[in-house]
Amino acid sequence: MPPEWAAALVVEVCAAAGRPGPAVRWRRARRANSSGVTRPDLGQITVTAGTDPIDQRLTLLHELAHWLAPRAPRRRRRTSHHNATFYQVAFALYHAHGISAAEAILREGGRYPSSLGHARRLGVAGADEAWHARRAALRERARQRRPMRILVPEHVVRLVRDGRWTRCSVCGVRVVGPTLARMRRRAGRHVLLATG
Ligand SMILES: [Zn+2]
Ligand SMILES: [Zn+2]
Repeated sequence: MPPEWAAALVVEVCAAAGRPGPAVRWRRARRANSSGVTRPDLGQITVTAGTDPIDQRLTLLHELAHWLAPRAPRRRRRTSHHNATFYQVAFALYHAHGISAAEAILREGGRYPSSLGHARRLGVAGADEAWHARRAALRERARQRRPMRILVPEHVVRLVRDGRWTRCSVCGVRVVGPTLARMRRRAGRHVLLATG
């Protein structure tokens, strides 16, 4: 059984949309965040409620948006499940039922990053900033993931003494420890790489 506020919210949202309400199954979990599933074929929403009350409310509203949003044609399973039409309904419900724009963007964007683009197009306050911040973070991550650059192509290591060190005379890299011992026994090959 859902708590009273949740049952009341379902009635209120569905009455305002002029639609019959779903049956709501409510389970409890120890974690902070909630999750939900909407099964239109069964006329049912299931919420697994975490301990965070804002997240409970947002999750129920998210599932109600699935309940109310015109369903996208199913090409592959879950295709365009969280599309522009869905988010138009979802962000309107968040706004009308006590989820601040900042919370909606933070939480929805944390779970479904693609929601930020929709929120931005819908003019949700703060969405543009969040969208740009995410783009910058993605760019930064891509930059860090850039493949290694070859500074000196693969070559046979030629050991030379350099004071108390031993270096490869081809690329200048210091050779130490087990690698040095191995290369003294038998000439090896290596490549000099750099990031960025
Ligand atoms: Zn969803
Ligand atoms: Zn070398």
